[in-house]
Amino acid sequence: LLGPDGVPAPTVFAEMSALAAATGAVNLGQGFPDEDGPAVVLDAAVEAIRQGVNQYPPGRGTPGLRAAVAEHQSHWYGIDVDPERDVLVTAGATEALAATLLAFVEPGDEVVTFEPFYDAYGALIRLAGGTHVTVPLTAPDFLPDEDTLRAAFSDRTRVVLVNTPHNPTGRVLPREVLATVVELAERYDALIVTDEVYEHLTFATPHVPIATLPGAGERTVTISSAGKTFSTTGWKIGWLTAAPALVEAIVSVKQYLTFVNGAPFQPAVAVGLRLPDEVFHGIAQDLAAKHDLLAAGLRSAGFDVLRPDGGYFVIADTAPLGHEDARAFCLRLPELAGVVGVPVSAFVRPEHASGYRSLVRFAFCKRRSVLAEAATRLAALA
Ligand code: PMP
Ligand code: GLN
Repeated sequence: LLGPDGVPAPTVFAEMSALAAATGAVNLGQGFPDEDGPAVVLDAAVEAIRQGVNQYPPGRGTPGLRAAVAEHQSHWYGIDVDPERDVLVTAGATEALAATLLAFVEPGDEVVTFEPFYDAYGALIRLAGGTHVTVPLTAPDFLPDEDTLRAAFSDRTRVVLVNTPHNPTGRVLPREVLATVVELAERYDALIVTDEVYEHLTFATPHVPIATLPGAGERTVTISSAGKTFSTTGWKIGWLTAAPALVEAIVSVKQYLTFVNGAPFQPAVAVGLRLPDEVFHGIAQDLAAKHDLLAAGLRSAGFDVLRPDGGYFVIADTAPLGHEDARAFCLRLPELAGVVGVPVSAFVRPEHASGYRSLVRFAFCKRRSVLAEAATRLAALA
């Protein structure tokens, strides 16, 4: 986890947010909203604090939030979840990922992910002592080749870690791809870990939780978070659902990572998870409109734009503008246009970077005025 000079390396998100702060550029790098989510969710947290919900919550999370997670899984996906035995509340999806990988991955075990992958995956697999095996998602459609996916599995595969909707590509993984993952996980007796933090932020293609596929249920740990859906990334309330024996093993790690977290935010997230369907649809529609605004700006600035199915991000190709190295481009972008983005190479291992070299990820989870300003600034590139 150290940089080439032996000093702890900041994540690309911290690096690019610092660049935005230092230059006054519009920050479309790190994925966090610049507007608050549903007021009833925020009010519920304030109310909980006022009512004294300020001490350690129960180890697996408050009963109210665990019940809300179970209802949510049943209501949206028809997944049967026991709030007592199948749910664990975590400090964001990140802690759910960390505790799960630390619980199940031993040195020498292989963990399969798609590539590009969210940066924490690589770091957490290393922390657990595992070996990271990747399956490329290549532009422009960002779907895996089936033979390559099959070849990634072996008797050493302990975990397959899936992310849909996917960061950074925005791809919602189709049911056929998920079915192949389940088939391979069964054949090699691997655990399926699925990161579905963008589950409600889809545009046209519906999200398919892998746990709904035949054969997946008993071997799947499903992870999500309130951060993206309710625009509360700073609250760090996440959760996972899995069969009781899996949850037990993960609790045994979580209890020594954070022990517990976020007491007053837990009842607030429970309020959020029970909001009417229209609220969730409205959140997705609002984000889709923001996508359209930024994508139009990027296109008129001369980028090729790769359409996401969901999530916070759009990938733009700088090649038509004459830039081949997106990292160098991103470091100069504040000076060139007063905007910050993240090179897709940050989500790819250096030896696999060639297919992604000219791609930049821009976040559109920002106010429309900010996106319009970014579009105006980017027009200077054309
Ligand atoms: N997984 C993915 C794919 C993400 O994009 C993020 C947030 N950027 C996380 C996990 C982390 O979620 P949390 O903030 O809830 O830990
Ligand atoms: N998940 C956010 C992103 O992909 C950032 C989270 C972070 O800064 N670690 O931009």
